[in-house]
Amino acid sequence: MRITPFGAAQTVTGSCHLVEHQNYRLLLDCGAYQGADEERNEAPFGFDPRTVDAVLISHAHNDHIGRLPMLIRQGFAGRVYVTEPTRLILPVILEDALRLMQEERERLVRKGREAPPLPWNERDLAELYTRLEVVTYYQTQSLGPFSYRLRDAGHLPGSAFIQLEAAGRSLIFSGDLGHRRKDVLVDPDYPAMVDLVLCEGTYGDRCAPPFCCNAGGVFRHFE
Ligand SMILES: [Zn+2]
Repeated sequence: MRITPFGAAQTVTGSCHLVEHQNYRLLLDCGAYQGADEERNEAPFGFDPRTVDAVLISHAHNDHIGRLPMLIRQGFAGRVYVTEPTRLILPVILEDALRLMQEERERLVRKGREAPPLPWNERDLAELYTRLEVVTYYQTQSLGPFSYRLRDAGHLPGSAFIQLEAAGRSLIFSGDLGHRRKDVLVDPDYPAMVDLVLCEGTYGDRCAPPFCCNAGGVFRHFE
């Protein structure tokens, strides 16, 4: 397996990782950049979307799904695999993202400023909805030379971490992970033994009370 990050590497948002094996190209997440990195959403992906065979989505937050309509617009012709809750939440998130982009564009036009065309629109979104395929937690599925299984990440409804295998090697892609002992969501599952873990580290420099210490706040700061 060859793994190349095209987002959420040395930054928090824009989760997008290409995994290749035997000419099959699988994308893990296709998220938007947010905050200070937002302008990177208009940049090329860094790979040709027409050559991607399928996308696996960890969960429905915009920084994990937000560039899916742009992937469609730029020629991706495959299916997008999601859990059932993710299928239901995804339109809410993306339609809101589109509305915000449209409002920002209208604001620029009103001020007489240059307003570049939107990177994707309703048509791309409608096409994306026809590409969604629902998969069930814990069932082993196949995509080309890969097999994979989704386990509950406890981060929001439908969130999953992805266990992926090919040619006798295995990896886990964490997506975003939730805390244990929450009121509403289930606890994240324990992972299987694998060769490699791609793990989010968004709050990895903090201790989250009361789950791991009583001190609260930052206990160590990485620069
Ligand atoms: Zn998230």
